[in-house]
Amino acid sequence: MTHSISGQTRVCGVIGDPVEHSLSPVMHNAAFQALDLDYVYVAFHVHRANLAAAISGMRALGLRGLNATIPHKVGVLPLLDAVDPLARQIGAVNTIVNDEGRLTGHNTDAAGFLQALVQNKFSPENKNVVIIGAGGAARAVTLALAGRGAHLIVLNRTPQTAADLVTRVKQAFADSQAIGLEMSDENLRAAVGDADLIVNTTSVGMRPEVGLSAVPARLIEPHHTVFDIVYSPVQTRLLRDAGLSGARTISGLDMLVWQGAVAFELWTGQKAPVEIMSRALREALGEK
Ligand code: NAP
Repeated sequence: MTHSISGQTRVCGVIGDPVEHSLSPVMHNAAFQALDLDYVYVAFHVHRANLAAAISGMRALGLRGLNATIPHKVGVLPLLDAVDPLARQIGAVNTIVNDEGRLTGHNTDAAGFLQALVQNKFSPENKNVVIIGAGGAARAVTLALAGRGAHLIVLNRTPQTAADLVTRVKQAFADSQAIGLEMSDENLRAAVGDADLIVNTTSVGMRPEVGLSAVPARLIEPHHTVFDIVYSPVQTRLLRDAGLSGARTISGLDMLVWQGAVAFELWTGQKAPVEIMSRALREALGEK
């Protein structure tokens, strides 16, 4: 049922620029309605220059929670009262919880990625993982995996960014096994050969470029698990190729749902209705 908005309704939202395309309002409002919670979730278009004012506004207006998306995930850190240790290691916050004026930052992309692995029965401990890409999402994925004892190779078009990410991993987990390399054909072939898990964290294959894949199909084998964090489309070219090669596949939609579920639980203290959130996202993406 739909809860009518009243003077007691608690407000959550997302800040970003752009933000109009965000699927989070659909997902969270479906979850609030399913559990009959007196909450509402809205999107706020916040320019970079207005970030500090927006966070002051969160305090002043008593918003219960915010997600931060591009370009605010890094800039928001110094504006908060506390930052969860994993979010600090990643260097990015995507979820803020307001406890009576005290703002705490979390990174539920990392938790969401790990939950998606759990859901798909992949345990990362001591596994060889190739991470393609070294951008913002890759930071969350890589730090999350390093914390679980995976052996990591990060490949990126810009090799310096891969090297910087590996330095960050080693600062956070001194005994971690991680190397960063350029995303050349040769490095990709060598890394993928020994991999248990291949994760695409680049935007390659995202709508509208749905014919592209970060990994040539000929390199994918049945022993691989392939996780594409791109969620639009849900079935990317990479996942289709991986499925045809007999590999196990995990969709970015699972990560998107779980990062939302973890945020939902932080704000409401209730177990998230994951199935309902997933269905709402699929409908919004036009993929039922
Ligand atoms: P980002 O910070 O801009 O990073 C983009 C990454 O992709 C960089 O490593 C970049 O390499 C690489 N890249 C971009 N175009 C490329 C190309 N043509 N060839 C090779 N590499 C290329 O972006 P992000 O925030 O990490 O997001 C990346 C993707 O993850 C997006 O599709 C986003 O929707 C998705 N995502 C999904 C979830 C989820 O919950 N499923 C969460 C967050 C993000 P360079 O360093 O060389 O530029």
